[in-house]
Amino acid sequence: MDKVEGLVIRTNNYGETHKIVTMMTREKGKIGVMARGAKKPKSRMSSITQPFIHGTFLIQSGSGLASMSQGEMISSLRSIREDIVKTAYASYIAELTDKLIDEKQPDPFLFEQLLQTFLWMNEGKDPNILTLMYELKMYRKAGFAPVVDHCLHCGNPEGPFSFSMVEGGLLCYRCKHRDPEAYGLPDPLPKLLRVFLHMDVKRLGQITMKDENKQLLRKIMDEYYERYGGYFIKSKKFLKQLDLFSD
Ligand SMILES: [Zn+2]
Repeated sequence: MDKVEGLVIRTNNYGETHKIVTMMTREKGKIGVMARGAKKPKSRMSSITQPFIHGTFLIQSGSGLASMSQGEMISSLRSIREDIVKTAYASYIAELTDKLIDEKQPDPFLFEQLLQTFLWMNEGKDPNILTLMYELKMYRKAGFAPVVDHCLHCGNPEGPFSFSMVEGGLLCYRCKHRDPEAYGLPDPLPKLLRVFLHMDVKRLGQITMKDENKQLLRKIMDEYYERYGGYFIKSKKFLKQLDLFSD
């Protein structure tokens, strides 16, 4: 029997009364476990296996799928579940994690980033900025992060910069001609991209961004993922319907 700290990122019904719960855990990375009886609406198992629940769980591993024998809630992250916009962002973050992360590869840093992202969202910090920060870290983990620390062609760390989709990151003013389609990045976006990629989300203080800058980064991230991300993320559709993501 193992005790793990985890966040529920996906649930699938299994038979009449069971659920298969996918969790990100601190100790074991992403795992899937069978939660018997979790589909019964009023069961204790049901309440601790809702999306975004943060808890400790007792897991019995065997030859097949592990099973959950008990769980205790640390935080229900209720204000996420009660707010449609927060739910949309959190669902997207959970699905992105589920799609891009391999099973059973512990990564305590990434676990902390996911947990803190949900906690900040629950407390009311800007879900748009939190999502950008988390996405960039996921892209890095999955091996396709854009180059944002310097010009990807000549290494120049000084701006002004443009963002090139084709080349996958920043081009400085000298190398900009390599991609006429590159998006010009007004200050402070190059620096923010760097901060979002590298900064531990726990250290996030007050960052404010102009709406037009948020929209531009959002558009760049969406286009970038389309090109390099691979997996279809179905919860993006909901964000697009709410006009939070670009088409
Ligand atoms: Zn350059």
